[in-house]
Amino acid sequence: MSDIHRNLSELNLEVINCRRCSRLVEWRERIVRTKKRAYFEWDYWGKPVPGLGDINGKILILGLAPGAHGSNRTGRMFTGDASGDFLYPALYDAGFTSQPEALSVNDGLKLKNIYISAVCRCAPPDNKPTREEMANCRPFLDREFTLMRNMVGVVALGKIAFDSALDLIKKQNGINPTNMPKFGHGKLYFSNDRVRPWLLTSYHPSRQNTQTGRLTKKMFKEIWETARKLL
Ligand code: SF4
Repeated sequence: MSDIHRNLSELNLEVINCRRCSRLVEWRERIVRTKKRAYFEWDYWGKPVPGLGDINGKILILGLAPGAHGSNRTGRMFTGDASGDFLYPALYDAGFTSQPEALSVNDGLKLKNIYISAVCRCAPPDNKPTREEMANCRPFLDREFTLMRNMVGVVALGKIAFDSALDLIKKQNGINPTNMPKFGHGKLYFSNDRVRPWLLTSYHPSRQNTQTGRLTKKMFKEIWETARKLL
């Protein structure tokens, strides 16, 4: 096992055992007990969800937090919920995954050249982690960022992921750019050689965005085509 994979295994073990945010621990464990009728037979994961994919990959995909009955049930990022149902087919079409479905940790999914992580590793009530909870979780992301030595780009899914990624990139490059355009869908930042990684933004593929037409399949497809071209 390489040093990077050993460090990642240690990190993931810390993530899985973390109980730092009392509100989120209580919430994620309550969901395990109450469940959703459709998943009554499932043995819910109910713990923080570690990152997923190729830590030696070139692109980091950054989301917000596990869904209560998605990742918090299956134990894998974007797996078993509406966001994943929108994300993985798009990644598959762009050649970043081995299959378009993500149903459980045993479904055979492989990620190619990408690593998926989140700002917050525990399912939050109403999908809204507090500022303090995100700060508590941030060291895990910092460490993944450092471990991704081949990273050339970040795709941020949503405004909160964008803010975190921007902060990480500023710190890594020792820069503090002024007049940054505001967050929006399909924007590309740092596409020059002076700052690495580049940062590409998308609306989050949550049901709230995809069912209202705020984020369409076409818009999402264009994000991954752009990411592919930037490699
Ligand atoms: S959100 Fe992060 S810091 Fe808070 S309990 Fe979960 S894993 Fe730990």
